[in-house]
Amino acid sequence: MNMEYSKKFFFTVAFLLPAMIAGAQEKNKMTHEMTEFYSPEVPVVTPGSTIDGGGFTAPSDAIILFDGKDLSKWESAKGGAALWKVHDGVVTVDKSTGDIQTKDKFNDFQLHIEWCVPKDIEGSSQARGNSGIFLQGMYEVQVLDSYENKTYVNGQAASIYKQAVPLVNAMRKPGEWNVYDIIYKAPDFKEDGSYRNYPRVTVIHNGVVVQNDTEIRGTTEFIGLPRIVKHGAGPIRLQAHGDPSKPISYRNIWIRNL
Ligand code: MG
Repeated sequence: MNMEYSKKFFFTVAFLLPAMIAGAQEKNKMTHEMTEFYSPEVPVVTPGSTIDGGGFTAPSDAIILFDGKDLSKWESAKGGAALWKVHDGVVTVDKSTGDIQTKDKFNDFQLHIEWCVPKDIEGSSQARGNSGIFLQGMYEVQVLDSYENKTYVNGQAASIYKQAVPLVNAMRKPGEWNVYDIIYKAPDFKEDGSYRNYPRVTVIHNGVVVQNDTEIRGTTEFIGLPRIVKHGAGPIRLQAHGDPSKPISYRNIWIRNL
């Protein structure tokens, strides 16, 4: 479909615009229909509806990754079944069983995901509701209780961990649901393994833009600088962080390939 639009755009630039310029003096001979096109039509998508305290449910063209019932779309990052606990329409991180990731792999996407820090959370800085969403399994959008909880700013909620500080802190308090909408553009690589185009990400946190087309510099590293590691399509991976605070929960996870 995009190809069709590209063709239209090319046609417009290559043929129509020069014709329009050349014919500027003959403007009166043009009609409005000459600069309007009707095909291919824009696909119709039925949007989801909002849910209590959260964001939109999946639109009709999304892949539903978690709808509150089971983890059939997920596996353990170590291999085998995803063992986090599903209950009451949510999935709660099980720190003892490690990260989970989608079975499917993705390139460019729009990801919707909601997360909730327990109301009675304790701890401070990075040891307070720490989890994370790894894009293509490589690049972490931080999940943390950053409601009145100071930490290094490039490690607070909605940071690209250790790389990019969020524009604002749009946290809801513990016990309430936070919503991330993440628009991600995958990198491509030169033959030597370096980026031709860096990965890029926009993050909307509770309706607020917090990462605006941010360039990701490389892998997420706790110690040291980002590394450039050539990769292809990858999963969405959710972090089972080892901090001792009570585990957070996720719900309403869906993705659209772009
Ligand atoms: Mg984390």
